[in-house]
This record gives sequence, C-alpha cells and structure tokens, in this order.
Amino acid sequence: MIRLIFLALTLSLYMGGNSFAQSEEEIEFVIEFFDELQPISIADNREYCGYFGIDENGQFVATKPNKGREDSCLADEPPPNMEIFASYHTHGAFSVDADSETPSSGDLEADISEEIDGYIATPGGRIWFIDSLEGAAMLICGRNCTVSDDRYEDGIYPEIKDYYSLEELYERDEMVE
Ligand SMILES: [Zn+2]
Repeated sequence: MIRLIFLALTLSLYMGGNSFAQSEEEIEFVIEFFDELQPISIADNREYCGYFGIDENGQFVATKPNKGREDSCLADEPPPNMEIFASYHTHGAFSVDADSETPSSGDLEADISEEIDGYIATPGGRIWFIDSLEGAAMLICGRNCTVSDDRYEDGIYPEIKDYYSLEELYERDEMVE
C-alpha cells in the first residue's frame, strides 16, 4: 500500500500534460508482473521480453516472455486477440560492465520506431516507462520497486536521473564509454 501511495505521488509529479496516462491499475499490474519475471532474468543473466496488452475481457495480460541474450531480446509477434499497449523487457543481472539501470538509447529508438510505449525493469529493481510519442524515458518507480539483484551496487555509473530524452541517453552513452 505504501508503495502505491508513493507511486501516486510520483505519477502526480509527472502529470505536466496529459501524455502520462497510465492508471494505478496498470502500474500495479506491471510491478506484479516484473516481481515474477525478475528473479528468473537475474538468475539466468538474460533479458526477457514481450508485450503487455488488454484481452477480450478487458483484463491486463502479458505475452509469454521470450528469453533473450545478456543485452538484447527480440519479442514474438503478439497474438491478434490482444490490444497491445506497451512492450516490456528486463535487463538481467547486475554487472559492473553494463550501465543497465536506465533504458538504453537503443531501447528508446526501438519503441519510437515501433510506435509503442515500453516498460523496463533493471537489476536495481527500478521500473522505467518509455513514452514513444514524447520520445523520452521516465522512471516510474525507483530502487527496489520490483525484485532486484542482491549483488547490485549503486554509484558505479553516473547518477541516475528520473527522465531521459533520446539526446540525453546518447550523452549518457558517451559519458559511460
Ligand atoms: Zn534495455
């Protein structure tokens, strides 16, 4: 419950315009989904990916996660009886060699070109939302919002902001390289 209140506060901070339309129910569904998938993704150190949608009964559903590689994942085509509203993927386990607490510039590029929003869970348990229309990524909820890797360490990579445009992600790529 505390987590939901925190989320509502976070959401209200982002409600500058009407572009941020996720309901509390949607966010709750996303967190519960990642809570199930994160332990598998972290244990395997593989990305998992798929789509979130609404089924014929108006219920939130997710496609079965595809197992990707350490730093990429390709989802199957979603079934036709599902109204897709976002892609999703995880970022696997914590690694000192990967700046994986934010979406990558490639993540943002992919969702923008597919014209679909996206959700991403990180090894630190952060959940990001990619707004493909706005062309930006925003932190939906922070450290330990969903299951995180016990080995996760803060402070190895530059500060994690709560909003990135594509340009800002390119800048982060250059800082990190
Ligand atoms: Zn990613």
